[in-house]
Amino acid sequence: MRYISTRGNKEVQAKEAIYRGIAEDGGLYTPVSIPPFDIEKIKDIDSYANLAKYIFGLYLTDFTKEEIADCIDKAYSSGRFYTKDIVAIKKLDRNIFALELWHGPTYAFKDVALQVLPHLLLKSMPSFYKQALILVATSGDTGKAALEGFKDVDRTKIVVFYPSEGVSDVQKRQMTTQEGRNTFVAGIKGNFDDAQSGVKEIFTSKKCIDTIENLGFFFTSANSINFGRLLPQIVYYIWSYIELLKAGDISEGEKINFVVPTGNFGNILAGFIAKLMGIPINKLIVASNINSVVADFIRTGLYDRRREFYKTISPSMDILVASNLERLLYLVTRDSERVKKYMLDLKSDGYYKVEEEVLKEIQESFWGDFSTDDHTRNSIKTIYREYGYLVDPHSAVGFDVYTKYQKQTSDNTKTVVVQTANPYKFAKDVLNALFDGEYNNIDPFEAVETLYAKTGTEVPEGIKSLHSKPVLHPDVIEKDKMFDFILEKIRDN
Ligand SMILES: *Cc1c(COP(=O)(O)O)cnc(C)c1O
Repeated sequence: MRYISTRGNKEVQAKEAIYRGIAEDGGLYTPVSIPPFDIEKIKDIDSYANLAKYIFGLYLTDFTKEEIADCIDKAYSSGRFYTKDIVAIKKLDRNIFALELWHGPTYAFKDVALQVLPHLLLKSMPSFYKQALILVATSGDTGKAALEGFKDVDRTKIVVFYPSEGVSDVQKRQMTTQEGRNTFVAGIKGNFDDAQSGVKEIFTSKKCIDTIENLGFFFTSANSINFGRLLPQIVYYIWSYIELLKAGDISEGEKINFVVPTGNFGNILAGFIAKLMGIPINKLIVASNINSVVADFIRTGLYDRRREFYKTISPSMDILVASNLERLLYLVTRDSERVKKYMLDLKSDGYYKVEEEVLKEIQESFWGDFSTDDHTRNSIKTIYREYGYLVDPHSAVGFDVYTKYQKQTSDNTKTVVVQTANPYKFAKDVLNALFDGEYNNIDPFEAVETLYAKTGTEVPEGIKSLHSKPVLHPDVIEKDKMFDFILEKIRDN
């Protein structure tokens, strides 16, 4: 299996795609061909970890079997996930299922991939580098999940930057209390875009690269542009299908829909790859919040980032440039020149429009719509009332968009709504959605207790203990001091 940049640069093997993270021409590494597989063959695989080993084997052909097994076992068999199968599927009614991806150490779906990525990276790194330096700009969930994934992993150091006023209190506390000898965290006086562009600048600055190379480091990324993040996400789409089949909820060959709360388009793209591999998927439903640039694109073929940016109650989806869409464009067109042109247009003019036949092909597999904060709150309340099921604001966007989908299409294909975060991560917003704003002034950690008192839904251990944990990373820095912060940390430690 080889990987090619979406912008056409030379093909590489999996290890190189993983340790580089992004291709030298700025494109994203994408498999040259999608390996098909036979459901019959995997139906009897007895655990999530073993299914992951099988799927990884199809893509990571320059890894040995033992290397793959070691990565998967370290991630999925060491008690870091709170459910035996890593993910869990709940039946809400005859047609609707909730796929819970938040049973990992940080309670967001990103754990499923970020617990594996560090081990893939270690096995991919050329030996002439002493250490990998992972830089992350985060609007909340990625930072914490990456910190937990890389914590105390040999030959790695990780530095995370978050907007000091732009993440939820629970998210901030999760990061500032991070343990591990190789983890460093700083707040930025600025917004997420400042953090993100700061990191990008450092990544591409010759001076910064040379400076850290002299210290024995190389930069790499834990963002979802790395194929090593995408691969683990393919597994749960396949797993869900097999589970529904085993439970008798669907019959052999029956198509299903997935609804995916979408930001950077990484999660749903993994679903598309599962479909290309042969999983019978009818529609992948893109659920955006009011920053609906991706849902609009799916409907019209016009990707237009020239619009206002809104802060919402589903912050991990507050994004105007969804980087993984580039991979979809490549998979649909297989034309790197065309993809390059779209990306150039986006950079210079702020928009691009795909041709009618490209749009048609995308719409074969995708449908999209968005949910406002008010509709999202309403959805949290309705889902709790109807099913006794508590959802976080991101997942609630999914339920709301699914309702819109059903109204507009009358499709009653069985549907899996992907649950991307545990509701307690956003306890205050969830509580206020259930009780119409009655608790708007509550302390965020008290909201956790009140939500428990009102619903009896289990509180994750790591959130219960959060407010009493010592803050180990108090730094808040100016946005032009990011590289100084990095140097100070890697020199001293
Ligand atoms: C990251 C995240 C998303 C968006 O996922 P993408 O892969 O970026 O589309 C949705 N919900 C939650 C809770 C997240 O952390």
